[in-house]
Amino acid sequence: MSQFWKPGTEKPRSCLVDDEEGGVLFYAAPPSSSGHGYSSFERLRQRLPVFKYRTAILYLVEKHATTIIVGETGSGKTTQIPQYLKEAGWAEGGRVIACTQPRRLSVQSVASRVAEEMGVKVGEEVGYTIRFEDKTNQGVTKIKFLTDGVLLREMMNDPLLTKYSVIMVDEAHERSLSTDTLLGLLKKIQRRRPELRLIISSATIEAKSMSNFFRTRKKNDGQASEDNGPNIEPSILSVEGKGFPVEIFYVEEPVSDYLRAAVDAVLLIHEKEPVGDVLVFLTGQDDIDAAVQLLTDEARETTRRHSGLLVLSLYSGLSRADQDLIFTPTPKGKRKVIISTNIAETSLTLEGVVYVVDSGFSKQRFYNPISDIENLVVAPISKASARQRAGRAGRVRPGKCFRLYTEDFFVQDMPVEGIPEMQRSNLVSFVIQLKALGIDNILGFDWLALPPPESMIRALEVLYSLEILDEDAKLTSPTGFQVAEIPLDPMISKMILTADALGCLEEIITIAAILSVQSIWVSVRGTHKGLDEVKLRFAAAEGDHVSFLNVYKAFLQSGKSSQWCYKNYINYHSMKKVVEMREQLSRLVRRLGIIPKSCGMDMQAVRRAIISGFFAHASQLEEYSQNGMYKTVRSSQEVYIHPSSVLFRVNPKWVVYHSLVSTDKHYMHNVIAIDPSWLTEAAPHFYQQRRPSIPLF
Ligand code: ADP
Ligand code: MG
Repeated sequence: MSQFWKPGTEKPRSCLVDDEEGGVLFYAAPPSSSGHGYSSFERLRQRLPVFKYRTAILYLVEKHATTIIVGETGSGKTTQIPQYLKEAGWAEGGRVIACTQPRRLSVQSVASRVAEEMGVKVGEEVGYTIRFEDKTNQGVTKIKFLTDGVLLREMMNDPLLTKYSVIMVDEAHERSLSTDTLLGLLKKIQRRRPELRLIISSATIEAKSMSNFFRTRKKNDGQASEDNGPNIEPSILSVEGKGFPVEIFYVEEPVSDYLRAAVDAVLLIHEKEPVGDVLVFLTGQDDIDAAVQLLTDEARETTRRHSGLLVLSLYSGLSRADQDLIFTPTPKGKRKVIISTNIAETSLTLEGVVYVVDSGFSKQRFYNPISDIENLVVAPISKASARQRAGRAGRVRPGKCFRLYTEDFFVQDMPVEGIPEMQRSNLVSFVIQLKALGIDNILGFDWLALPPPESMIRALEVLYSLEILDEDAKLTSPTGFQVAEIPLDPMISKMILTADALGCLEEIITIAAILSVQSIWVSVRGTHKGLDEVKLRFAAAEGDHVSFLNVYKAFLQSGKSSQWCYKNYINYHSMKKVVEMREQLSRLVRRLGIIPKSCGMDMQAVRRAIISGFFAHASQLEEYSQNGMYKTVRSSQEVYIHPSSVLFRVNPKWVVYHSLVSTDKHYMHNVIAIDPSWLTEAAPHFYQQRRPSIPLF
């Protein structure tokens, strides 16, 4: 057990006001020690706001089971606190300090930063684990960064997470589904493992409600073993940031095209404002890539006026090389423009940003349990997010934030806080994971936000129809347990398991890998002749999934050439990921005792395997027109084939889609034509009992 301070020994000298009620703790820091003999990193580390609180943090973690730490983005929470814990001995005796992040990109990025500060290689003393990538070394790794989803998965093999001495749940304010799930489960683990310490950290947080959540045991409960356990009363520490003031500008009239408006704002800043980097918040890879393209074109056309612009994009799924560029200091005489998703809102610190352009939107998950449709929707951000975004301009000196929405919109239309993801998500994966952990009464469990009962019922229904859960809502054997082992959407996992029986697992694994990357095509704005022509070359009459197989085959034949990808409007980086993910999936199914086989040209087997997972996503053509209207079998929702599909304007009578995307209409993404009799074969219970009104095919 790490001993930073123990009752009976000399207390830390500084003045601590530890409010037993869980109030904010103020701390008068001792003067920092002289920088004699330190490396340059050491000096940088000491300059971070969190350094003044080092003693306080270690004291609180030692004394309290749970410590809640709130501090400005960039104050050093993520990179420093795990190091402090290690220095204080929390990683001795083979134990590990864990720090979770909601996003993979931040996991990789902070791990490499911390490794660099400690002068070690990533994967040794400092490591990370994300889905399909484990850069840790058992027995050597002391600080481990990981996504909260991966930590949840680790619980399946080690329910009490025994190898960790401290678990820091970072970015808790994001309230991602996995973070909330993790917090609920960690609270239970704490009861069984009083020696475990939790740190919950974030940029903004309702610290009181978080503290109330963790303060449920009675004072004498759980402390049966005399008084040597930590205080179960959560402590709260607030790190005083040193952000500079940021001046806010609004547009006078609402803008109709935030992408164009963002590009214009950047050009104006570049023309009128003194040096300093620009951070632009857009919503996703597609509009970010489009904005980068527009800015690059613009800069090329008006070379003289716009020279010196260095335009970069930032979203999860970015290659390592591109990520590194983001953090490379801006060369003299240049102005970096980083166009980002909300990943730069709080989870990554970008030095040198002085101007922020905020579109006011982000991509958010919304789930409607009635129609059973989950969508990634471009929706207004919350006021809390808008403030965070603005704050990014004041890291190094006073900055400016240009909001591409009116002040009225900010005041009247933006919600104060976002809705926790647990309340707006499809809960299918959530339910499987809890079932695999042996938690049956999910609604009776203590969550930060209660999952909506309608969504729970829907999830149970879907899982039952996929034969993953049985009538008693228990995991079926072997299907249910195998699905729980595969870290993919359960519908994809089911498709993989059926493919084994149909002898087309090689093909289905390729499809599963391609469906798991953002897009294998380079993104263009609107329609693009060249891209459309190329797609035709790979197009299969069956639909998108089979076309993917053609692309993959051609990619292999090209010798995995980047040149070939470039010529064919295919995203080379995505294809490399597909190859990697395929290997991981092959290894995984082999672990389940399955040997992948190929079905050669038998695309019917492939389509049947897809249906076995996605039968609930069937729709029927209702109205024949250029781009015909379909209705979903499940909820009679009006849907259309997405223009990016090879089946766009083909209008097959019956299709199964992978996902729905809503813009002006509901669009089916990744579509395959099917024979309706396959639906009843794949899921007779689903189609015959639940939908008696469906004509018998
Ligand atoms: P917090 O978690 O409180 O938002 P971090 O620990 O992520 O803060 O960052 C602390 C500081 O470390 C930042 O202000 C920045 O100066 C530096 N830093 C973090 N990550 C990087 C990186 N990848 N490259 C360069 N500097 C970084
Ligand atoms: Mg952080």
